Amino acid sequence: MKAATRVIKAGLPEKNQGAAFLAGPTFAGPYHLSGDPASSAYLYGRYHNPTWTAYEQAITELEGGAATIVYSSGMAAVAAMLGTTLKAGDKLVMSSDAYYTARLVANGFFATLGVEIQFAPTAGNAQKEHLVGAKLLWLESPSNPSLDVCDIALLAEAAHAVGALVVVDNTTPSCLGQQPLLLGADFSLSSDTKVTTGHSDLILGHVSVKDEALGDKLRTWRTQMGSIPGPMEVWLAHRSLATLDLRIERHAKNALAVAEFLATRPEVTGLRYPGLPHDPAYPIASRQMKFYGPVISFELANQSMAETFLKNCELLIEATSFGGLHTMAERRARWGGDKVSEGFIRLSVGCEDAEDLIADLTQALDKALS
Ligand SMILES: *Cc1c(COP(=O)(O)O)cnc(C)c1O
Repeated sequence: MKAATRVIKAGLPEKNQGAAFLAGPTFAGPYHLSGDPASSAYLYGRYHNPTWTAYEQAITELEGGAATIVYSSGMAAVAAMLGTTLKAGDKLVMSSDAYYTARLVANGFFATLGVEIQFAPTAGNAQKEHLVGAKLLWLESPSNPSLDVCDIALLAEAAHAVGALVVVDNTTPSCLGQQPLLLGADFSLSSDTKVTTGHSDLILGHVSVKDEALGDKLRTWRTQMGSIPGPMEVWLAHRSLATLDLRIERHAKNALAVAEFLATRPEVTGLRYPGLPHDPAYPIASRQMKFYGPVISFELANQSMAETFLKNCELLIEATSFGGLHTMAERRARWGGDKVSEGFIRLSVGCEDAEDLIADLTQALDKALS
């Protein structure tokens, strides 16, 4: 079955006369439970929930894994990932352009615990040089917001050769855009807040695994630390997942059209989109990605030009996220943390009409120039 078919069916219960296709969320603290706990699949709401189970089955199928554990946020998934694989004295090799808050947690909380951290850039597979003695290799491809890519299969093989586990933060492409587990990674991690759910109405994350035993550790972490999602969020996510193929196809088509347009504007520099054939990321991206995703980055001359551009875009929402139906952008340097220029813009191209978007971007760039 093709992904476009699977994503619509994924995680739905068996056909049952008179039943809903995707039954609503189950809100439960405790479940009815008398006698031997082994007699019930559901014991207590912090342990498991049937709404999570359905969504996890759907994601597992799409990731091509053995199990998925859904968390209350992408960062809860990051914490579980680091917390279940690393202890004092272990070495973590992480991309220096990985998601800012993931780097903060690694270099803050986990460094304080005694984890050794080696950062190296995504571009040029630079982590490969630092794998000796590593316990965990942390990749993010394409990286956010700089949009470099690395060769996941090559790095996974090199990491496994020295006994390290491999996680890919797959948030930007989503499980339909790229399947890290099939490329050799042990874990595929995602903030489902972004393109996976796409409606900008929830915060959620997941980790998928190939090995059940690693999945058990991640599930135990969730149960014991309590980083559990609400059933309403998970149900909304499952509902939104069904349109992922439709959305991601439109995102990719629109993003390519917008990137091609931006490439014609002389005031735009540093344009990056992994789906542009002349982008340095393209040779690897075209081998390992099915869709190139919604995110483009580029630079304008300075802060004031970038802000004038953003203010004058009528179709674009200024927000710090990406992967939603609505086109969104921000001047990334307003946060600090990423090594980007003052005029650097991260643009997440939505599912609107591409001609409308390009017309709007044209008038906003013209105003920023005047
Ligand atoms: C947003 C994001 C996260 C964190 O996810 P939240 O759902 O905001 O907690 C992690 N990694 C990447 C690449 C992200 O974009």
